[in-house]
Amino acid sequence: MSRDQQTSYAKTLPEPTPLTKPFWDFCKGHELRMQFCTQCLEWIWYPKAWCPNCGMREHLEWRRLSGNGSVYSFTVIRQVIDNSQAFQSDIPFVIGLIELDEGPRIYSNVSVTSPEQVKIGDRVSVYFEDVTTEFSLPKFKKD
Ligand SMILES: [Zn+2]
Repeated sequence: MSRDQQTSYAKTLPEPTPLTKPFWDFCKGHELRMQFCTQCLEWIWYPKAWCPNCGMREHLEWRRLSGNGSVYSFTVIRQVIDNSQAFQSDIPFVIGLIELDEGPRIYSNVSVTSPEQVKIGDRVSVYFEDVTTEFSLPKFKKD
């Protein structure tokens, strides 16, 4: 990645660890994947080194999700303490807790032109914003 590409995105970028790097790599390919324990048949989020249920790491796999879900809860951000000013033009914006159809819940942006458009229970689907050559961020839009 060139320095220009790196600096053209003013907001904070993810800082992948060995544990979270697969998630971000799949996002780069526009796939929403989470860990799934094939023994317990349970989704695991956030990424973990072993299944919190059975304690095994051998049964974890990165399984693809549909990207479809509904708004479980949300908040409207109307003020940001942000020295970089990078978020100022986004205000107000919506951070939702999205309940994916497969079960796990993930915090993400809900992209709408006005926060009043969002209600609990709204159907949403994931899309990916390619913010740099290295990172695509999963966000949600109303169906
Ligand atoms: Zn398990």
